[in-house]
Parts: sequence; structure tokens; C-alpha cells
Amino acid sequence: MTHSLTAEQVQLQDMLRRVAAERLAPRAAAIDASAEYPQDMFELLCELGLFRLPFSADYGGMDSSLASCIAVEELGRICYNTAYLLVVQWTPFSAIHAGGTPEQKARFLPGLASGAQRAAISVTEAQSGSDVAGIRTRARRDGKDYVLNGAKIWCTNALFSDFILVAARTGDGDTPGTVNLFIVERGTKGLTIGRKEPKMGARGVPSSPLFLDDVRVSEDNRLGEEGLGFKIVMEAFNKARPVIGARGVGLAQGAMDHAIEFVSNRRAFGQQISDMQGIRWMIADMAIQISAARNLVYHAASAVDAGISGRELATLSAIAKCHATDTAMKVATDAVQLFGAAGISDEYPINRYFRDAKVLQIVEGTNQIQRNIIARNIIGGSRKA
Ligand SMILES: Cc1cc2nc3c(=O)[nH]c(=O)nc-3n(C[C@H](O)[C@H](O)[C@H](O)COP(=O)(O)OP(=O)(O)OC[C@H]3O[C@@H](n4cnc5c(N)ncnc54)[C@H](O)[C@@H]3O)c2cc1C
Repeated sequence: MTHSLTAEQVQLQDMLRRVAAERLAPRAAAIDASAEYPQDMFELLCELGLFRLPFSADYGGMDSSLASCIAVEELGRICYNTAYLLVVQWTPFSAIHAGGTPEQKARFLPGLASGAQRAAISVTEAQSGSDVAGIRTRARRDGKDYVLNGAKIWCTNALFSDFILVAARTGDGDTPGTVNLFIVERGTKGLTIGRKEPKMGARGVPSSPLFLDDVRVSEDNRLGEEGLGFKIVMEAFNKARPVIGARGVGLAQGAMDHAIEFVSNRRAFGQQISDMQGIRWMIADMAIQISAARNLVYHAASAVDAGISGRELATLSAIAKCHATDTAMKVATDAVQLFGAAGISDEYPINRYFRDAKVLQIVEGTNQIQRNIIARNIIGGSRKA
């Protein structure tokens, strides 16, 4: 049995299941094949008011991480890239919500909620991905401004963003306390967004390098107090991770749906493949893993909604993200196997699920890093262990 949902959440789930079948299913393969940003899907999400889901009622939202997970799961079951459009918007939202001043919230959150503004977050650099505290981009104080210099990689959505939250180091130390986040608005002099990265998965939402050459940002655009940037990023990731887990649940469910359809229509050795016990057990194992993952994700999302934070939320979110995205990879791999050679062919959708699943084990903290967080919180030890 799955975590119980409210009537409103069930209604949302039903509506999205219908929308995904009618509007996303005809587009999913083409978005992946062309690797073009799905502007039509972005407009559909705006029309349905889905960007608002995690926002409070002040912004017309449901204030619900669980509802956000349901949306990402249902859309991601059919089209990973469309679900990704929600997620890339919600990570900067979590950061501004967690660490922004009232003025910053008033300036940026309404646009993010409606979709009138798009955003991205940029932490990763060539020499430091998992090790956030190892970033080298500098923010030098100059009166009431900061001047940013450095280079970033893998900034997803940057090409379509009105502003980007850029992590930069103030001061000379290399401790997490010197990492800060700055809101860099599109068109700011000195900011260059590079060409999109060719990717094997998540192909519809581009990831690009950023080059910051004397980018001047007012102190009004620093998120939170100086020195709190690292903490804000970590808190934002803790809140966003159940949603990444939901992408894993949706992907795994979609891969299993395709696998069941395929084995139900394929024969070998004079019988239906779906009647063979070895095949039936593979499908049963998929269902077991997906059910466990869904419950972990809903549990972590409910913890966000209940206001749980700090170490407890970090552990729950890391468990949910890690298990759900490992499940996505396992289920997608087994689903390709069940398709036989057809699993490798572009004629069938299943290899898309396989490629997208791999991305999930790497983004928003790799699954090794999730295991480090879990182990640290239950055994103790340093941030590097
Ligand atoms: C599709 C995609 C979109 C992305 N979008 C964004 C974005 O919008 N913004 C952004 O800032 N970044 C983004 N990233 C970057 C992503 O966050 C990093 O790739 C990720 O954090 C891992 O960093 P890395 O690639 O440098 O790997 P590294 O940190 O170099 O790690 C290499 C390997 O070593 C392992 N490893 C590292 N440290 C440890 C440790 N202490 N213990 C055990 N294993 C360890 C890692 O798990 C990994 O397997 C994106 C990446 C992808 C693939």
C-alpha cells in the first residue's frame, strides 16, 4: 500500500495522469531525439499552474513538497524532460525561499511561481562538483557591490533563465563559510553562457558552462548573510531531493509500464513471454522496488511539509533520493533486458528511460555522496568521509 494521499492530491494525480497521456506521450520521444528545449511543454506547465505547487498560498501554491513529487512522478513516468522543467525551477526557488531577504522573495518568487521568470543554480566547476566547498569562483567586495570572476560548468537551464544563482567564494579561505550565492540577472555585463553540453540523457533541458568576467552584482543580490551561502545550498538540496527521488519513481514506473506491455505482446518457445516465471519475477521485483521507493519519497516529502529540517531531513531526503534513483537505474536496466534487441533500438522508447536514469544517480549530489550523508548522520565522521 502506498502512503495515503489527500483527496486534493489524488485529484492532482488523476489530472496529471490524463495530461501526461494526452499531451506528453506524443512529444516525449521527439524532445529526446532532437535535444531541443520543449517550449510547448513549458507553456503547458504554466497553463496548468504547476510551477506553483511547492509555493505558499501567497503565490497561489499548495505549499506542498508531496504534491510537487506527485506532479514530477506522473509527468516523469511519460516524459523525463517535461518533469525536469519543474525541477530546475524549484531548486532556485528552494534556495531563495530558504535564504532570501523579504525583498528578494518579493522580487523573484512571484515570477518563479507563475513561470513568468525562469531560473537556474550554478555551483559546479571543472575541479569541484561533489566538493561544493572546493569552488574557485571569487566574489570580491567593491563598496556596495561584489565583482565575480570564474567559470562554471553544467548549469542546467542557464540558456533560458532570467537569473542564475551563482555560488562564489568571498574571502581567501577555502572553508564552506566563505561560499556565498549571488543572484546574477540575465544580460549582466561580463556574464557569458556557453554552448550546451551534448548529453546522453536529460537531453531536452540544456546544461551549459558559464564564464564570469568582472560581473558586478549589488549586495542586494547576495542571498542571505555573507558566509551563509553554503548552508543555504545544502538546505535547498535537502528540500529538493525528494523531488529528484520522485523523478526516479516516475521513470521506474514508466519503464515497468513499457516492459509489461512488451512482454505481454511477445512470444518465444511457443508461449507468451509474460507467462514465463523468470520474467514474471523480474516484473514483480520491479513492482517491489518501485513501491518501496515511492513510499520513501513520499515520506521524505511529507517531512519537508511538516517543517522538519537539519540533519533529520538531510538523512530522510538522501535515503529517498538514493534509493529511488538507484531503483530507476535498476528497473530501466531490467526493462531494456526484457525488450531483448528491441531494447537497444531507437524504434522503442525504453532506451530513453535507461539513458535518463543514469543522470539521476549523478545530479543533485551523486549517490555516493548521498550514502556519505546517511553514514555521517548515523555513524558520525567528517564531511569528506
Ligand atoms: C545532467 C546534469 C545536470 C546538472 N545540472 C547542474 C546544475 O544545474 N547546477 C550545478 O551546479 N551542477 C549541475 N550538475 C553537476 C552535478 O551536480 C555534478 O556532476 C555532481 O555533483 C558530481 O560532480 P562531478 O561530476 O564533478 O563528479 P566528482 O565530484 O568529480 O565525482 C566523481 C566520482 O567520484 C565520486 N566521489 C566524489 N567524492 C566522493 C566521496 N567523498 N566519497 C565517495 N565518492 C565520491 C562521485 O560520486 C563520482 O562517482 C549537473 C550534472 C548533470 C550530469
